[in-house]
Amino acid sequence: TWSSVDAYALTHTHPATRPNAAILAQTLAASAAAGLPEISVSAAQGKFLALHCRAARVTRALEVGTLGGYSAIWLASENPGLHVTSVEVNPVHAEVARGNVKAAGLEGRVEVVLGSGVDVLGRLKGEVERGERERFGFVFVDADKENNWEYVKLAKKMVGSGGVICVDNIVRRGKLVEEGSQEAGVLGSRRVVENVGREEGLDAVVLQTVGEKSYDGWLWIVVE
Ligand code: SAM
Repeated sequence: TWSSVDAYALTHTHPATRPNAAILAQTLAASAAAGLPEISVSAAQGKFLALHCRAARVTRALEVGTLGGYSAIWLASENPGLHVTSVEVNPVHAEVARGNVKAAGLEGRVEVVLGSGVDVLGRLKGEVERGERERFGFVFVDADKENNWEYVKLAKKMVGSGGVICVDNIVRRGKLVEEGSQEAGVLGSRRVVENVGREEGLDAVVLQTVGEKSYDGWLWIVVE
């Protein structure tokens, strides 16, 4: 039912006649053909993140975890004034993503940076602090879950007041609250949820989601 509702709703809210519909479908097809895992955001989630960037008039977005570039292409293809910097540690994923970004005609606005999230965000933070790079208005954290809290702490220093940091895959089909779970992803989710409420200058909520990507949720953080 969750998948059927997503499919039905998208047919009406984002029909195949939209200018970016073909390129988004092609991105998923090329990523699957290259053997990448099918773990991108759902179309509805990609659209929501893009709509948020439009509503908040974001001009610079940062992503940790590019995969084949599907979420980054959603953000940029829906927002002509938006520049996306997306960080990916796996060279094969980064290469496929660059190919997809080129096919989408978004080379000038989606930059895929190869490297580990902690290293690259550390470098970007230095550039922002020295005034060499503009602050980001939106950060999407969707990589190794163990480092979620490190990513949020680094992102906080690069996001302007009122900016948003969204951490994906927080609820993990309810495992977030399953006693005794020692899965690295669950521990990484708990660490960020438990720390964020204690951190000065951040205000947050966990929003549970269902859809074609099953049952999960986002940690949605506003930088004060
Ligand atoms: N955001 C993408 C989308 O929705 O299209 C999906 C990202 S996928 C869930 C997670 C990606 O994070 C994978 O491509 C993985 O290689 C990458 N990744 C894992 N550990 C990482 C790290 N330490 N630094 C940067 N990327 C990492």
